[in-house]
Amino acid sequence: MELNQLTAHELLVRLKSGSVASEAVQEALYARIEKVDSKINAYVRRADFRKNDAVNKKQGLLFSLPVTVKDNICTEGLNTECCSKILAGFCPPYEATVISKLKKAGAEIFPLKANMDEFAFGSSTENSCFGPTHNPWNLGCVPGGSSGGSAAAVAADEAIWALGSDTGGSIRQPASFCGVVGLKPTYGRVSRFGLIAFASSLDQIGPITKDVEDAAILTQAISGYDPNDSTSVDQDVPDYLKSLTKDIKGLRVGIPKEYFVEGMDSEVKSVIEQAVNKLKTLGASVKEVSLPHTEYAVPVYYIIATAEASSNLARFDGVQYGYRAKSDNLIEMYKRTRAEGFGDEAKRRIILGTFALSHGYYDAYYLRALKVRTLIKQDFDRVFAEFDCIAAPTSPTPAFKLGERASEPLKMYLSDIYTISVNLAGIPAISIPCGFTKDKLPVGLQIMAGSFNEEMLFRVAHTFEQNTEWHKIKSSL
Ligand code: GLN
Repeated sequence: MELNQLTAHELLVRLKSGSVASEAVQEALYARIEKVDSKINAYVRRADFRKNDAVNKKQGLLFSLPVTVKDNICTEGLNTECCSKILAGFCPPYEATVISKLKKAGAEIFPLKANMDEFAFGSSTENSCFGPTHNPWNLGCVPGGSSGGSAAAVAADEAIWALGSDTGGSIRQPASFCGVVGLKPTYGRVSRFGLIAFASSLDQIGPITKDVEDAAILTQAISGYDPNDSTSVDQDVPDYLKSLTKDIKGLRVGIPKEYFVEGMDSEVKSVIEQAVNKLKTLGASVKEVSLPHTEYAVPVYYIIATAEASSNLARFDGVQYGYRAKSDNLIEMYKRTRAEGFGDEAKRRIILGTFALSHGYYDAYYLRALKVRTLIKQDFDRVFAEFDCIAAPTSPTPAFKLGERASEPLKMYLSDIYTISVNLAGIPAISIPCGFTKDKLPVGLQIMAGSFNEEMLFRVAHTFEQNTEWHKIKSSL
């Protein structure tokens, strides 16, 4: 195997023993990118790109291992544009807390950023001003989104591991479409400082990796309280590697009946059923549960997320950041900057969100959505009072064709049905590879647990993974 094909934990063993040099890992990644990225477009290639020749000889826990970072996480001295024209040329004067933490742990920040849907709006990475990312398993299909660049890079061995962000599924759904592992931590577990905000009450940064052990290592490195993010929680970070016990005997796993309804692809259904049976044979006790407010998750999410997005995006007016349209008149300059700088989906969301927050409609839409959000959270509380975790599909379908849903926003929104409740409830969830369709497209199994119980996710996901081979299968690219 080439170095770029190994997992982070496999590389760490070699780096520590000195049998592999960190420069060699970077070289292997560059060679792979050179070979396949013109087909995949997982990385945003900007004119200012400088190869990171002088890899710092850092020791630390992570021995200069390069981490690929989504384009909405601020990296000092490296452009961070959210794949939007409106942030063209924006180079942050500071870095996100997750980046400082990774550097402190000894990691190297890979100098190319990962492609994404503009401002993380989307489920397919087609809404990027740098063009869409292609799925390494089938170049005619989307990689999922919005962290599609991060997931495709990991799946195609163009990255060892990566950071994504998840507001309504943007880590888990692309992980599922690309056959890799993706985890959304509990809201408050990981600092959002330096993550360019989409919907502040839902956003979390998390890992996209080749296996569960890597997800545990990367989550460990980025978790913890941060005085710069008032929503980060001051609670000890457990040693996640201790959760990899390979044992789930006696665990109570709930299967939400509302997730197995019409509209679900029949092949995905049968792959998930087999995965659930596997959990049973590994000793878990599996029972059907109910999350009765699931049907409201999509409308509630698309009110709250767009409302918060419209407010967060108000700052992009051509004055402080990125792109500025030419005009002698200030108001005209604002208008033209926003008209020319934002893509269609960003505009759609700004308009929807502004409407939902406007006088006379606030109570009917935003406030009501917040109330239903509480009911969705209570559904989970009730289940977790009796169950250790919930297992479900990550997405109702495998990766769909490029262009298939791009002109039908509603169809695109509905594809988020299984991931967004988790963000609304603030709980953690992981997606792991659990099989393939006949066309060789990966399917992801989603595991959810109660707040701050990432340990349960690692335990169940690792046990499943170590007793199956799905995570070892690579695309033929
Ligand atoms: N697909 C969802 C959306 O379009 C989620 C995106 C995300 O998690 N950033 O909003």
